Amino acid sequence: MNEILKTKKTRSLLKESIEYFGKEKQILKTIEELSELIRALSRYLVEDYEVLLDYEQTINNRDEEMADCYIMLEQLEMIFQNKTSIKNHIQEKLELLEYKINQ
Ligand SMILES: [Mg+2]
Repeated sequence: MNEILKTKKTRSLLKESIEYFGKEKQILKTIEELSELIRALSRYLVEDYEVLLDYEQTINNRDEEMADCYIMLEQLEMIFQNKTSIKNHIQEKLELLEYKINQ
């Protein structure tokens, strides 16, 4: 994930956010942000072929929603305390990806 999310200051802010809003609300917020990213990516793909729409705004919206998701996924990792499990899954999936690409 983005390196800014790993700073002490940011991690402290995200912990405060979880305490302030509560774990359940932050899980729901993650679902909301993921759905917004799905919408932004769909718009981005359509926009690629329809030059008439505002391309710059679409790009900005795509990047904003990706940022929202990074922030929420970082909080989920804090809530579920599953950093090692996530790391192991990422490693496995990268190995599988490498295998698929190189076969
Ligand atoms: Mg959003």
